[in-house]
Amino acid sequence: MKKTPCPCNPTAEYHNCCEPYHLGKTYPTRQETLMRSRYSAYVLHNIDYLKLTWHSTTCPNDFDDMDATKWLGLKINKIHENSDNQEYFVEFIARYKDSNQNGKADKIHELSRFIYENERLVYIDGEFL
Ligand SMILES: [Zn+2]
Repeated sequence: MKKTPCPCNPTAEYHNCCEPYHLGKTYPTRQETLMRSRYSAYVLHNIDYLKLTWHSTTCPNDFDDMDATKWLGLKINKIHENSDNQEYFVEFIARYKDSNQNGKADKIHELSRFIYENERLVYIDGEFL
């Protein structure tokens, strides 16, 4: 059987990495796996999964421009949390090409914040670094 690398990590198999989350077989319990599975959902245009893992107060309605972005890779820089406030953080760099900008390669360097909603860890917002 052909092995499909996971979008979040070329050395991991999608089947054993983000796919179980995307299929709803299980839900990420740590901010790193949540972050990785959300990145993979962007790559695979899995809008349902992005909405599922997005806090209800900040989730956008519109994901129209997804086709313009070709994701090139994810690098996790730092994972930390503030347990007093029940806030969980991932600092990452995601590289991409945007066909609306003549396919120029660019990157997002973001500190994402995750909190619990309905007993599930979800993405609430991020700060560009
Ligand atoms: Zn993955």
